[in-house]
Amino acid sequence: MRLSRYFLPVLKENPSEAQIVSHRLMLRAGMIKQASAGIYSWLPLGFKVLRRLEDIVHEEQVRAGHVPMLMPTLQSADLWRESGRYDDYGQEMLRISDRHGRDMLYGPTNEELITDIFRSHVGSYKDLPLTLYHIQWKFRDEIRPRFGVMRGREFFMKDGYTFDLTKEDALHAYNRHLVSYLRTYERMGLQAIPMRADGGPIGGDYTHEFLVLAETGESEVFYDSAVTDLSFGDREIDYDDVAQCAGVLEEFTSKYARTDETHDLELFNQVPMDRQRVARGIEVGQIFYFGTKYSEPLGAVVQGPDGKQVPVHMGSHGIGVSRLIGAIIEANHDDNGIIWPEGVTPFHAGIVNLKQGDAEADAACEALYKSLEAAGLEPLYDDRDERAGGKFATMDLIGLPWRITVGPRGLKNGVVELTSRRTGQSEELPPKEAIARLIDIYAPHKGHTFEHWEPMARQSFHTWL
Ligand code: ATP
Ligand code: MG
Repeated sequence: MRLSRYFLPVLKENPSEAQIVSHRLMLRAGMIKQASAGIYSWLPLGFKVLRRLEDIVHEEQVRAGHVPMLMPTLQSADLWRESGRYDDYGQEMLRISDRHGRDMLYGPTNEELITDIFRSHVGSYKDLPLTLYHIQWKFRDEIRPRFGVMRGREFFMKDGYTFDLTKEDALHAYNRHLVSYLRTYERMGLQAIPMRADGGPIGGDYTHEFLVLAETGESEVFYDSAVTDLSFGDREIDYDDVAQCAGVLEEFTSKYARTDETHDLELFNQVPMDRQRVARGIEVGQIFYFGTKYSEPLGAVVQGPDGKQVPVHMGSHGIGVSRLIGAIIEANHDDNGIIWPEGVTPFHAGIVNLKQGDAEADAACEALYKSLEAAGLEPLYDDRDERAGGKFATMDLIGLPWRITVGPRGLKNGVVELTSRRTGQSEELPPKEAIARLIDIYAPHKGHTFEHWEPMARQSFHTWL
């Protein structure tokens, strides 16, 4: 992309409405614009990051054997009356009526709809296990939308629903989700710690929230510092292997890590003093096994091996895709702007032409641009007729991990400058070597799991943005 033809409305001044750094930087970098309280337009740069995250979530879900689909945002109230949640949900549910006076709602979640789909089409235990998921906009009429996309009213969520014959199978689905979530967050450059969560009125031990540590997090968290040493890394995992998934769950959840809702002082005090931590965190996902809570009232039953009809065991598993962008920025920024982790950056490298209009500099930039594209990378070329200082400030603000600076002086010696946004360190290299370096850097982030996708979907969404 050439910046002269892009739409990147960066702001010079700090917007007064933003209380936290991620919100401020998303507005300043021209990623979002508020449409009304807690509702945002995603401007091209923000949209690109959102799609990158969506791609990663899809890839990791499909890798775990889960089946993508799409359900609507607007739902009929009837199903929610059947499950008993229409009245329970309260004011967070946006209720609408259509021209015929029928009660509708903008879905805050999809348990009812998916259970209806299931009961209409699945009748036998032979069709289980089944995990269906979608990534879709949700609406919750939050009393206090704030912090930009972190607590919006309209937000983008991956929600997956598991259907199993037995509790044992459903717990494998739960463990499988935990593993796939660990991978997902790590690919985004984040450490999200699974913490024992509160099952709410349904109760039960089988729910974990994933929290990213950040001073601006809304949840107070208590943990054993040993949990921050854990990393999933690039270990091979067989998602059908019950023992292996259970082993990962054990490894990542056996140390003390809880939010204030489930905090237990007595247990916490058993953690060695020097490892006790009290901090704040951002909830970026939650997994939940809830048994037959929806399958019973909604009649989602299958015929078991013995011929008897039994309600299925269900779980629901969510990732806050739009909130994650805020969380990533909270964890990756400095005074000059965002610092994208390589796995989620909207463009792989910026090209800064120090002397636009200089024939040699222009030609070198064009050549770099084309070579990077040919290598499957997406450069953002600042080809505007602007001062170098302004170009650097924009690149720093929007946070591309790598910048290539091209100027007549370097070109005389056959070199360009490759600069890391994170460390600020620069190196002079011949253009070919700079390109080779970037190809190496991004190699681990390219198309991990596309072999799982049906051919039509093979090209990840972001390649056409
Ligand atoms: P919270 O406690 O933050 O209100 P929740 O527990 O009600 O969230 P879930 O139903 O678990 O949310 O939804 C799954 C994920 O969706 C959450 O982990 C979070 O990352 C994200 N999410 C929930 N509410 C919002 C919101 N208002 N804005 C942005 N993301 C949200
Ligand atoms: Mg939650």
